[in-house]
Amino acid sequence: MRELTLPGYQDVVAAAERINGFAHRTPVLTTATANKMSGAELFFKCENFQRMGAFKFRGAMNALLQFSMQQKKHGVVAFSSGNHAQGIALSAKLLGIPATIVMPQDAPASKVAATRGYGADVVLYDRYTEDREKIGQALADKHGMTLIPPYDHPHIIAGQGTAAKELFEEVGNLDALFVCLGGGGLLAGSALVARHHSPLCKIYGVEPQAGNDGQQSFRSGKIVHIETPKTIADGAQTQHLGQYTFPLIQKNVDDILTVSDAELVSCMRFFAERMKMVVEPTGCLGFAAALAHKEHLQGKSVGIIISGGNVDISRYSQLLAGRGINNDRDCI
Ligand SMILES: *Cc1c(COP(=O)(O)O)cnc(C)c1O
Repeated sequence: MRELTLPGYQDVVAAAERINGFAHRTPVLTTATANKMSGAELFFKCENFQRMGAFKFRGAMNALLQFSMQQKKHGVVAFSSGNHAQGIALSAKLLGIPATIVMPQDAPASKVAATRGYGADVVLYDRYTEDREKIGQALADKHGMTLIPPYDHPHIIAGQGTAAKELFEEVGNLDALFVCLGGGGLLAGSALVARHHSPLCKIYGVEPQAGNDGQQSFRSGKIVHIETPKTIADGAQTQHLGQYTFPLIQKNVDDILTVSDAELVSCMRFFAERMKMVVEPTGCLGFAAALAHKEHLQGKSVGIIISGGNVDISRYSQLLAGRGINNDRDCI
């Protein structure tokens, strides 16, 4: 296999300088109620307040800012139905780079409209009969576009790490850090930062119970592929970790935990009621795991990354009302 050059902490530092002035420095919030519930001192890094509503803007911007003149001219292509699509589309718009996003035909109209609203071309495909990676690669080959994957790319990983960098700069040492886990871009980048700032900090990735491929991979020592999991955490419906993210996670992360969809909903409700925040189901993974494992966190300082807040508002109210959990909705 080809030797990969994995990103390091210095790449996160460089990414932070690069995206400074483009990305928001999001707030770190605390609440006495959550501290009481957990017995720990919790620091929430609120990437639901990031531009386009999730941390994905950081990695996308970091990647696009490193394009050559030639790459800028030919444009960027990405395949995603969710936050990566919007992160790429917004970054491309800000930098005047043409963007093409490959999305499933049955993606929510609001997401397609939001992506088009940022000026991107949307190419629709049938996710039951066509392979989005192949379509993306074919577009890249045909038009000389650069394909930017959602997590398995050194520039994406370094960019995503900048959220944790801001968190550590603001709160200092932490005893534990909980990070949502899909394909591992956010976790791999955050872990580089945590290892640098707080060498003894325990770093946990958190997945939905229905899609614990990361946990299986971490524990077996090789990348495990699964079917697209059925979970309300649509940002974590990835089927496998990546060639870059897996070795970084293996090296730096202490464990991968899982939580149920019902636990995610109760955290969504907590964020809404107590902190007046809309958090998407995937964004609740970290807090849900911290509550589930609170016996190990008594008196500790704990960082929790809230990864995003993009959720269709009628779906959000359904979930808060206790409906629409464990249905047959799959990856969109
Ligand atoms: C993409 C995403 C994740 C998972 O990030 P990875 O880098 O793929 O692990 C978590 N939460 C939200 C809101 C996301 O958009």
